[in-house]
Amino acid sequence: MRYDNEQVRAAAEQLRGKFESLEEKQAIRRAPELTALYEQIKTMSPEKRASFGKEVNALKDEVEGWIKDHNLPTLKRPAIDVTAPLDFNSSKPELLPTELGSRHPLMSELEKIIDIFVRMGFAAVESRQLDDDYHMFTSLNFAQDHPARDDYDTFLTHEGLIAPAHTSTMQNRVLKQYKSNLQAGRAISAVIAGRVFRNEDLDARHEHTFYQLEGLYVGKDINAGNLMATLKIFLEEYYGQALEVKTQPFYFPFTEPSFEFALSCPFCKKKGCNICSYSGWIELLGCGMIHPNVLKEAGIDPAVYTGFAWGGGIDRLVMMKNGIEDVRNFHSGNLNFLRQFS
Ligand SMILES: [Zn+2]
Repeated sequence: MRYDNEQVRAAAEQLRGKFESLEEKQAIRRAPELTALYEQIKTMSPEKRASFGKEVNALKDEVEGWIKDHNLPTLKRPAIDVTAPLDFNSSKPELLPTELGSRHPLMSELEKIIDIFVRMGFAAVESRQLDDDYHMFTSLNFAQDHPARDDYDTFLTHEGLIAPAHTSTMQNRVLKQYKSNLQAGRAISAVIAGRVFRNEDLDARHEHTFYQLEGLYVGKDINAGNLMATLKIFLEEYYGQALEVKTQPFYFPFTEPSFEFALSCPFCKKKGCNICSYSGWIELLGCGMIHPNVLKEAGIDPAVYTGFAWGGGIDRLVMMKNGIEDVRNFHSGNLNFLRQFS
């Protein structure tokens, strides 16, 4: 733009140079050169003021224009011709081949398992991926500073929340949620599926993230025989064959007595194979009679009601069933692995 007034012309030149070097381009609006020109308008005689003021305003508009232009993208792209014919034989862009995906083997297996338990009368509940110390330990009869807490190498958030290391973190909630069943003369029966997390050294058999299925049953006169029978019925349905089951004593703070539960190898029918390490038996999960303190903590009278609970990994079931040798395949995102299950 050309300015007739010499002062305005000089200010315009100075401002243009200044604008280029300004990091915060908007600051040019408060440049002293502009302010000085506006101050000068006030001091002028009315006849001079009109033409001078017009030029100062024009300069102000020009400066605004610079700021506006500066915000526009400098790279001009050619417009897309939406009427152009689509060339299916074009080699570009390279697109991924279209194909149908499939369910993740862990999810489809989990569905089968839950379906069996639902048919057996269990409610299905989902676990959570972040919990607190109370549900992870205290409500499950882990005394503060109890060494058993160290068996669970957990991940903690900065706020002290815990990525659950087992689905038992839901026991207290589920017992409270279904407590009214007991007053109505019915049992509490629920399975809880969820993702759990442990700070493991990773190898073919250990992952930091895996899936567990927890089961709970509470009622009157429930004993360990009911626990064995429930798991046996489930496993026979799951593997589609008659199986033997056995337990051996174990320790968990939240069950008393506690057991390690084993089934006769469904793959070799106890003859011995590499899945059962040629023992004929597979140690599958931990279980036991719910500790009276856990019932009490949920407001259930252990003198009136008893119950059992179990918890086991889903990943291992799926691995055994499909001959998968490395647990890390599940979370690898490896399509060659996943396509086997489509
Ligand atoms: Zn076997």
